[in-house]
Amino acid sequence: MNPAVLSLAFSAAVLASLLVKFWLATRQMRHVAAHRASVPAAFAGTVALAAHQKAADYTLAKLRFGIASDAFGSAVLICWTLMGGLAALNDLLLAHVAPRWGAMAYQLLLIGAFVVIGALLELPFDLYSTFRLEQRFGFNKTTVALFVTDLVKSTLLGIAIGGPLLALVLWIMQATGALWWAWAWGALTVFQLLAMVIYPTLIAPLFNKFEPLSDDALVARVQSLMQRCGFRAKGFFVMDGSRRSAHANAYFTGFGAGKRVVFFDTLLQRLNGDEVEAVLAHELGHFAHRHIVKRVVLMLATSLAGFALLGWLAAQGAFYTGLGVTPNIRYSNDALALLLFMMALPPFLFFVSPVFASLSRRDEYQADAYARSNANAADLVRALLKLYEDNASTLTPDPLYVRFYYSHPPASSRIAALGLADAKLLGAAA
Ligand SMILES: [Zn+2]
Repeated sequence: MNPAVLSLAFSAAVLASLLVKFWLATRQMRHVAAHRASVPAAFAGTVALAAHQKAADYTLAKLRFGIASDAFGSAVLICWTLMGGLAALNDLLLAHVAPRWGAMAYQLLLIGAFVVIGALLELPFDLYSTFRLEQRFGFNKTTVALFVTDLVKSTLLGIAIGGPLLALVLWIMQATGALWWAWAWGALTVFQLLAMVIYPTLIAPLFNKFEPLSDDALVARVQSLMQRCGFRAKGFFVMDGSRRSAHANAYFTGFGAGKRVVFFDTLLQRLNGDEVEAVLAHELGHFAHRHIVKRVVLMLATSLAGFALLGWLAAQGAFYTGLGVTPNIRYSNDALALLLFMMALPPFLFFVSPVFASLSRRDEYQADAYARSNANAADLVRALLKLYEDNASTLTPDPLYVRFYYSHPPASSRIAALGLADAKLLGAAA
């Protein structure tokens, strides 16, 4: 591999992905702005003009923010790599940490410092997004105190879990020989599967309160729906999602007999019993079609391919010099390889993201079809419209933007697929 070719390919990918993002964002902005004046005919009577215009304004504000944050992110990426940011940080730690505390401490600190600097650079964007953008549209419920507590908790959690895990991967890289990437993948796979099991019961409660669903009538309905569908859950819980945000959601988590259904309190406040049942039927559809298992398998297969690629790249001198770093002579290059790989991959991966988005949209249609056979399609549509309204999701997205980014099909396509081509048939939404 020629380092100049890698530099050029990397710069081209960063620039091209940024330009495509800008182009798609401006298309979406034009499309949404052009349809702002009136509610689309199919939704006339079910969606109020004020809600439609709020969705348009929120969508436009988020797109503008996205353009600024993408541009900044690309600049930071180029500064770390081709402009020598990572090389400078590496030199500093090589001179001061490596001789005193050894190779492992140097590598852990290099990655730690990189993560901390990256998070500090992102912080103004997080603050703006939470306390300006979300605030302006009435979605933000996070206080500054809660924001800081969350930040402290996730940092401590990151050090407590990420630190040992990173040390393990670095150890595997230097101790297991040429096939280290397969061993590292195996270790991370075990960790990820373990995380999926412990997340709902051990990690999520650190950030939110979970209380058993106390509405007996609703519990009975939900239980009978699950029985009809052949599922059993260990418990039904209400999560205080309203602590941070007005956005509503429901999810179904866990494995085997340990499955639990979690409703955001914001969802239960907005939807009636019929609608909650329809939303849960959709979630059960994901399980019935084994979407979660398939997604995990796909993720593991992609990450194995990623590790194999990294295994090859890490052994090429040009991989380092092409991305702005001179490889170390006395110390291991493993931490550098991990960092460069994490930075170099996303601009290339961006161009395959539509494939994953389209797989996800297909899953959503299947889950909707499942909900239609096990609950009421009209209730699902009513629930969807309320959720779209509460999340201020636009009803008039640009079709190309949808193909590239949307993990869920737009409302009009979902309603049409449910056999209710015209939302007007439903009568006024409550
Ligand atoms: Zn879904």
